[in-house]
Amino acid sequence: MANDVCATGSSRLTIDLDAIRANYRLLAARVAPAACGAVVKADAYGLGAAWVAPVLRDAGCGIFFVAQLCEAIALRAALGTAGDIFILNGLDPGCEALCADRGFVPVLNSASQVARWRALARERGSALPAALQIDSGMSRLGLDAAAVEALTGDAGFAREVPLRLLMTHLACADEPGNPANAAQLARFAAARALFPGVPASIANSGGSFLPDGFHCDVARAGIALYGAPPSALAEGLRPVAALSARVIQIREIGAGTGVGYGLDYVASERRRLATIGIGYADGWPRHLSGRGAAWHRGQRLPIVGRVSMDSLTVDISSLPDDALAEGDSVELLGPSQSLDDVAGDAGTISYEILTQLGRRHRRLYVDGAQQ
Ligand SMILES: *Cc1c(COP(=O)(O)O)cnc(C)c1O
Repeated sequence: MANDVCATGSSRLTIDLDAIRANYRLLAARVAPAACGAVVKADAYGLGAAWVAPVLRDAGCGIFFVAQLCEAIALRAALGTAGDIFILNGLDPGCEALCADRGFVPVLNSASQVARWRALARERGSALPAALQIDSGMSRLGLDAAAVEALTGDAGFAREVPLRLLMTHLACADEPGNPANAAQLARFAAARALFPGVPASIANSGGSFLPDGFHCDVARAGIALYGAPPSALAEGLRPVAALSARVIQIREIGAGTGVGYGLDYVASERRRLATIGIGYADGWPRHLSGRGAAWHRGQRLPIVGRVSMDSLTVDISSLPDDALAEGDSVELLGPSQSLDDVAGDAGTISYEILTQLGRRHRRLYVDGAQQ
């Protein structure tokens, strides 16, 4: 399967749908008997929700999470009628009616979001389901303990807003030994006791690899589905994204010759260089200037000089002279270089590398299970 929007593009992003399916099954087995929901916000972390979500649906996923209403609308078109769609960021003012009309489940994160959703339910004379987020210690989104208590004493709330999910989010799920995890779980347990019978959710990908107590009723898996391990506890995930880019030009330079903007790199001896057709406009971080690498058949090709908008230059002196020619491809993500390797070199996390991968790559969706 190819999406040939840019069939002649100089970089190619291959997305392995079978690996996503396998990762989903691994996570679902890990958190069972809890249900495994899929987080497909930010266009499935940049990999294409319209391709990814139906694969997850067919693998048995019935619960989907996005961040924004516009993502929910696009996701519904991709999914058809199957599956519940939760909106993690909740309700932007003025969007309540559209959210309700489309049947999405907003995550109510603040007393004012609760108030606006209730007002719509009263106006329409019908109950409007929602999820409720509790702030258990991250101080990002969710109601604090006082706001939660106020709701439990309010019979009108239970009538107007049937709760489909009570949720909270872990700040340190990627650090299994961090005591903040247990502290958040304990605060969440206290909140759960106030809403008996409402399904509960605390685990993201990292939380799914924490002990069973963190799995509750629904897990919200994101990055692990896309093949990046969320913590040192995660094992057996298959990489999903592979990225390669073509050599545009090969040259030899002598000692004293500078390379790229600012001439940051100056060769100390004769060097062979290849200029590769990928740059920061393609989401390949400019922070990799002089520090990252491309790979060719297991050989590391260090980036020399600054990463440009549309190209970068690597040192290929370690390869035999005829190993690479114009038009050949080098590996940027694949067996020799993982998302975490690139993120580490760039001083960021796999999430940011994935979600920034640009629109100019030729995208190839492959599905081993169907080949
Ligand atoms: C993004 C997000 C997730 C998914 O996190 P991963 O670490 O990618 O698994 C889960 N829950 C919430 C609230 C999120 O914002």
